[in-house]
Amino acid sequence: MSEASELPPGPEPPPESEYAYGERRTPTAAQVAAFEPGRGRISGYLSATLGVMSLLGVLCFLYPTLFTTAELREAYEVGQIRFLLRITLIGSVAFGLFNMARLQNARLGAVGLLCAGAAFLLGGWQAEVGTLDPTKVGLGLDWLLLDLLASAGLFIFLEKLFPRYPDQAILRPELSLDVVYFGMNHLALGFLLIASNGFAPAAVDWAVNAELQAFVTGLPIWGQVILLVFAADLVQYWIHRAYHEVPWLWGLHAVHHSTEHMDWIAGSRTHILQTLFDRTLVFLPLYLLGPSKEALDVYVVYAALLAVFIHSNVGLPMGPLKWIITTPQFHHWHHSSDQPAIDTNYAAYLPLYDWLFGTFHMPDAHWPIKYGTLTRLPRTFWGQFAYPFQRDRGRGDADAGTPEEASAGS
Ligand SMILES: [Zn+2]
Ligand SMILES: [Zn+2]
Repeated sequence: MSEASELPPGPEPPPESEYAYGERRTPTAAQVAAFEPGRGRISGYLSATLGVMSLLGVLCFLYPTLFTTAELREAYEVGQIRFLLRITLIGSVAFGLFNMARLQNARLGAVGLLCAGAAFLLGGWQAEVGTLDPTKVGLGLDWLLLDLLASAGLFIFLEKLFPRYPDQAILRPELSLDVVYFGMNHLALGFLLIASNGFAPAAVDWAVNAELQAFVTGLPIWGQVILLVFAADLVQYWIHRAYHEVPWLWGLHAVHHSTEHMDWIAGSRTHILQTLFDRTLVFLPLYLLGPSKEALDVYVVYAALLAVFIHSNVGLPMGPLKWIITTPQFHHWHHSSDQPAIDTNYAAYLPLYDWLFGTFHMPDAHWPIKYGTLTRLPRTFWGQFAYPFQRDRGRGDADAGTPEEASAGS
């Protein structure tokens, strides 16, 4: 804010301490109207989403070696998955027919019906399970589908029960872009697992300390999980801070900040390269600590749920917990383009690290007014993929100046 005196004449931004926090901008009338019931978009999106998921689900049945995950295959029963597939297929057809009958936005319904038809031709929910080679690592398409269903089911329910922004529709602007990110990042991780199978542990084995690992596995499971949370988040804090403070890295990370609507799937918007960097780097402390499989499983589920939760449109009062674990309010501030919040709240699990390193921002019960980057990014997946490599891109956050300057340039 010290550059305020160098600004061209115009309204000066308020001093940080007097910053006027308030309510968020509401969606435009056109955005609201596009998703009003009766226009066929809701049934169309449901039909297309369920249809594509059903088709991919049938492919998991037919080609389990290529598409499924060994750990997940142990956790679920084929009968349960067939039942789920039956529901998604029937849902896709029902919503598709309803959508086509209304003759509005019927293309989405047609996509849903075509995918459902293809899934039926390949055997539907009675598709035979193909031959399985348990020694090979699959792409994790089953993980993608089950994660999408479970995250959507749980968090859309919470968003409807305790909405932070009740005026934000589930089918909000750029939802389809974030669904693409959800799919692409899951697949990229699947490729990473295949590519790194057996390689990464060998590369870092020199750093393994048997005494440390024996100490860790000697702890009770809850103790191991707490240790993993502290260790992983210390690494994540500094990686995240580097993304904000090193200019080229910011170009990569700006993609994550380009979302202007926070909800259960907004956090999926991450550049594929960042996803690959993050997973590789966070793997290191987890691997070196060598926890038990049970502790690692609890940690992975906790981390996955928290990552969705902190981006969600959930305004559930958290009480004193909000000082101990990261919450939607904490991470929403991280995504805000309101000036005092820029480059704050880097922790993924523990606000303690931001407090210790001087980047904590939690102004009472206030929530942000605006989300997104100050310099607006391209609005397509491939446009954003190329963004970090563009020479003439702006810095797009705090260093771009005040909100007034940025909005003038965006
Ligand atoms: Zn960030
Ligand atoms: Zn985020």
